[in-house]
Amino acid sequence: MKVVVIGGAAMGMGVVAKLKRLDPKAEIVVIQKNNYVSLGACGIPYYIGDNFADANIMLARKVEDFEKIGVKVLTNSIVTEVDFKNKKVIAKSNENNIIENYDKLVIATGGTPIINEVLSKQYSNCFTVNSKEDGEDIKKIKSKAKNIVIIGAGLIGLEVAENLANNKVNISVIEKGSRPLANLFDPEFTDLIETELEKNKVNLIKNTEIKEIFSTNDKITEVELIDGTKIKCDLLICSIGVRPNTDFLINTNLKLNERNAIIVDKTGATNIKDVYAGGDCVQTFGRTYKNPVYSPLATVASKHAVIVAENLVGIKSEFAGALNTAIVKIFDLELARTGENSRFLTESKIKYEEVLIKDKDHTNYVSGQRDLWVKLIKDVKKNTLIGCQFGGYDKAIMRIHSIIAMIWNQDVLDPSVNQIDLPYAPPFSRTKDIINIALSKIIEK
Ligand SMILES: Cc1cc2nc3c(=O)[nH]c(=O)nc-3n(C[C@H](O)[C@H](O)[C@H](O)COP(=O)(O)OP(=O)(O)OC[C@H]3O[C@@H](n4cnc5c(N)ncnc54)[C@H](O)[C@@H]3O)c2cc1C
Repeated sequence: MKVVVIGGAAMGMGVVAKLKRLDPKAEIVVIQKNNYVSLGACGIPYYIGDNFADANIMLARKVEDFEKIGVKVLTNSIVTEVDFKNKKVIAKSNENNIIENYDKLVIATGGTPIINEVLSKQYSNCFTVNSKEDGEDIKKIKSKAKNIVIIGAGLIGLEVAENLANNKVNISVIEKGSRPLANLFDPEFTDLIETELEKNKVNLIKNTEIKEIFSTNDKITEVELIDGTKIKCDLLICSIGVRPNTDFLINTNLKLNERNAIIVDKTGATNIKDVYAGGDCVQTFGRTYKNPVYSPLATVASKHAVIVAENLVGIKSEFAGALNTAIVKIFDLELARTGENSRFLTESKIKYEEVLIKDKDHTNYVSGQRDLWVKLIKDVKKNTLIGCQFGGYDKAIMRIHSIIAMIWNQDVLDPSVNQIDLPYAPPFSRTKDIINIALSKIIEK
């Protein structure tokens, strides 16, 4: 069996690693755009923030590691076309065309940053945050930048804001919507983010967009917002989200959704025989309501990789659904979320109840006691927990793990659930933990 994998990051190399374990004789060819594989892109904001000096640390495995186990890795090669009928992949490497035949094909091309329309031209001080090179380029010029503008108050934009912040720079985050991270968190939690940004002198400007870019030669010097406000800019970061990297598949017989994400079934199979896909280039589905979702997270991609590899060798495994669980640190503030939020439930007309509790993370007589917030959301009809959000400090939000397990299993809320036997010792919690309190309230609703 010859398997060709397009894309060499979490999904692509995840498939390769698992497949080689399941079938050491499988012939595998990876076609990868970059000159490296297995980039852990999640590290880029922290590399920019000088948490570590060598960007190569973000490469979980090297090309040579895969070559040693007999995998052919074609780097600096971009797939431009797939001939599904004749089972051929066509790629460009420098000026040469490469053609690889396949028995089975895995598409793992991930996501590509969405570029703001006003940035149609290339500027030398404007970047996305997606590749190792992006991180390296930003790091090269950041020390010369006094005025930094970030477009988009999403996970990446806010992580980058934190990592670029210091008392010598002015950072403005321009957000089109009315709240930061509004897709993930409810207003009570996005309010915490706004307070934290303000405390750290990050200027969040909401409900607006950049209307015009002013530049000298190829360098942005200033941006103008739709209300006419002008902001000086030495470094501009565009982080307004990702879209599936599937341009080369448009107008083929491969089924894509309205956002051009590849449609796959629970096994990762596409509508074309012997063609699989997973990770940030596919539409996946939510665990609780089985609704189609786009969930561009490393956690999801790595699970898709295992499922696809197993199905390639004939093991009938299925993806179990995504809860869109995410966690983020913004300066001191830490937030975690899982499952559905009030925005989705209202839009979907699902009857829900919620409780919001503010408490302390541990006893008052052990130093460092901090505030902790939790929201639990339940489906009234099913009487199950379907969503949870936490906000707090010093990793107290990791309590979300226990709630994730309840949501994952769709446990019907038993009246005794408020007695759930959680651990207690003074430095960690209180005798009645915030989770016990929140569960007591939600079962009464
Ligand atoms: C800055 C940043 C921070 C993140 N932080 C987190 C986090 O904290 N937690 C989390 O869960 N997720 C995080 N993510 C998301 C996570 O990195 C992705 O979900 C994950 O990388 C998806 O893996 P993938 O293999 O599907 O796609 P990608 O990682 O996008 O990899 C796709 C690969 O395919 C290559 N490729 C694309 N097109 C072609 C082509 N035509 N021919 C050949 N090769 C091609 C690309 O160059 C790339 O190497 C973060 C992402 C970024 C950018």
